[in-house]
Amino acid sequence: MIKKIQKTDAEWKKILTPEQYNILRKKGTEAPGSCSLLRNKEKGVYACVGCGNKLFKSSEKFDSGTGWPSFFEPYSDEALEYHEDNSWGMKRVEVLCAKCGGHLGHVFDDGSAPTFKRFCINGIVLKFKEL
Ligand code: FE
Repeated sequence: MIKKIQKTDAEWKKILTPEQYNILRKKGTEAPGSCSLLRNKEKGVYACVGCGNKLFKSSEKFDSGTGWPSFFEPYSDEALEYHEDNSWGMKRVEVLCAKCGGHLGHVFDDGSAPTFKRFCINGIVLKFKEL
């Protein structure tokens, strides 16, 4: 089981940039195409910038053409949490970091083989560690 962490808003603001804070804690979205990790093809692991929880592997990344880093599978079954999101008049599934509860993006059913899932993730809140 992943041990959950909790911080106050003030504590998050101390360790996150304003951009990271806006996405992770306020469910913001980065501009498509804005994150340098979008085109990253190195072998490694993508972790949560807020808490270090491992979220995705480079072998699960694919180019969805959306402008956001996309993955077809999470790092593990317990890495992520899912919430129904009915904001903006859309029915979507929100993806959160299971350890810190931070907002990461959404998951859709139009992804790549073998799972055909598309985890559409804000790259600004990912920390890449080369293997
Ligand atoms: Fe996290």
